[in-house]
Amino acid sequence: MGETKRHGLKQKYIFVTGGVLSGVGKGITAASIGSVLQAKGAYVSIQKCDPYLNVDAGLLNPAEHGECFVTKDGAETDLDLGHYERFLDIELTQKNASLAGRIMSELIASERAGKLSGKTVQVIPHFTNAIQDKIAEAAEGSDVHIVEIGGTVGDYEGLAFVEAIREFAARVGRENCLYVHVVYVPFIGTSKEFKTKPAQNALQDLRSFGIFPDAVVVRTETPAPENVARKISLLSGVPQQYIVDMPNVDTVYRIPETIANSPLHELLSKFIENDSQPDLGKWQRLITAVNGHPSKTVTIGLVAKYMDNEDTYLSVTEAVKAAGWTLGVGVDIKWINAEDCGGDDFAGVDALIVPGGFGERGIEGKIAAATYALEHKKPYLGLCLGLQVAVIAAARRSGLNDANSTEFNPTTPHNVVYIMEGQEGKESTGGTLRLGDYPAVLKEGSKAAESYGQTDIIERHRHRYEVNQKFIQDIERGGLVISGTSPDGKLVEYVEAADNPYFVATQAHPEFKSRPYKAHPLFLGLIRSVVD
Ligand code: GLN
Repeated sequence: MGETKRHGLKQKYIFVTGGVLSGVGKGITAASIGSVLQAKGAYVSIQKCDPYLNVDAGLLNPAEHGECFVTKDGAETDLDLGHYERFLDIELTQKNASLAGRIMSELIASERAGKLSGKTVQVIPHFTNAIQDKIAEAAEGSDVHIVEIGGTVGDYEGLAFVEAIREFAARVGRENCLYVHVVYVPFIGTSKEFKTKPAQNALQDLRSFGIFPDAVVVRTETPAPENVARKISLLSGVPQQYIVDMPNVDTVYRIPETIANSPLHELLSKFIENDSQPDLGKWQRLITAVNGHPSKTVTIGLVAKYMDNEDTYLSVTEAVKAAGWTLGVGVDIKWINAEDCGGDDFAGVDALIVPGGFGERGIEGKIAAATYALEHKKPYLGLCLGLQVAVIAAARRSGLNDANSTEFNPTTPHNVVYIMEGQEGKESTGGTLRLGDYPAVLKEGSKAAESYGQTDIIERHRHRYEVNQKFIQDIERGGLVISGTSPDGKLVEYVEAADNPYFVATQAHPEFKSRPYKAHPLFLGLIRSVVD
């Protein structure tokens, strides 16, 4: 600890906690602070500590929790890691997602293995030390490591994390730690005033756990008058200039610029001993694109089953938008309910996307979407399950009426999508999927290869079932060709329809590698095919 890092400085740590409410932008704040530091030349890493007793996010219900974001090493994490990757353009790993359940289960395993020398195992110091070790490990190699603590300070389950980050200052020196608390200040419409009391209480809670924050980010719906910061400053002891109002903005990608233009920038500069001006060109270009007035708008139908939580498909919708920004094309995302859809829904959009999914619900609607795209030459992008339903649709078109995936019909003789070897019998357990980065080789001259501009591809995966190559001829007769496989040829990774402006499906999840300022080639390909 404390050794010199890349820029000859001590390793720095920024802890981002939340008060009053969760879900008001703590993750975006953490990621945006990172973006500003990156723009000043710092090497930034970031980590989410979640107090849930889950071991990973793989089994969390997407309707409640939003999408499960998969890292290159196959960690199943929550959507905050997606924000981090999109803001910071780095590829994160399991180290960057620390759930209480995982840390606790490792601690218990080491106790069972006799590694704790018969000691009484306690939350303090054993669990809090384990949390600190995770933080130190995730920080390795960076100049500044940002740690976001999930939930709000005061939640029972989060107390050990708050204590751990307090103790961390003793480990590495208080001067190497910066504490940023994100609070929400509501505006009461009837009395037309901002109410700072909940924020004051939240800061008091934080102080009662021994953390005196260096800065407070105040989230408001609309810009707050100065007296809000003054009041919070008076009652919390945090200097007024470091109580920074962050009202809602048109796009979250504006936040790095907001932070860079606020007094927080000065605080961050002092903290990392780097007073250079951040190069925000990337963000400014993106904001211009987001606010552009495209002359053309296309409608993309997203055939989905979680209709009431758009966060379930967050990386997909961000990837679609990114492609629109890059091409200067407006995109309207039309949600098509996979459980209740038909030809009119498909005809009413310019292109279809069938995203990933698990379980039978809505599956026939997704197969119908792929069938429609094959029959009507509608541009189509299939993502993981979107490839599997395309293969089922093609096989059925070739006459195998009962073609299916064994996930949805375990007894069909025409199991064109089937369970991978070695995975039988583990279907309902966590952690048995093909997860993370896998290489694929594309066919020269295929649409996919044309989109990527290369034939050696690495994309992230999260699935259990594979295309059954026994049925390749039927699938081809139904209108699809295999355009990419694993390097050994054993696994189908890409299929496409030759006689369609753009029908490409992949067994992977390319959406995870899209960036707002660097759209993914397959999403670009889809949108281009509609506007060209
Ligand atoms: N349910 C399918 C499988 O397990 C697809 C998964 C996905 O789309 N991520 O293979």
